[in-house]
Amino acid sequence: MARGEFLTVKCGECGNEQVVFSKPAQAVECIVCDTEIAESTGGTARFNAKVLSAVE
Ligand SMILES: [Zn+2]
Repeated sequence: MARGEFLTVKCGECGNEQVVFSKPAQAVECIVCDTEIAESTGGTARFNAKVLSAVE
């Protein structure tokens, strides 16, 4: 998965599920509660949310 993939993650704060790129260029926030759910690292993100599945 050198190019990254899309993942469904579940926010630990509010339970919202949203699709996040696995290698985001910048931090990704929950669209519901603004919690930072994926931290940009330059590679695969550090997730602060539960990763549920990869999106096909
Ligand atoms: Zn949330």
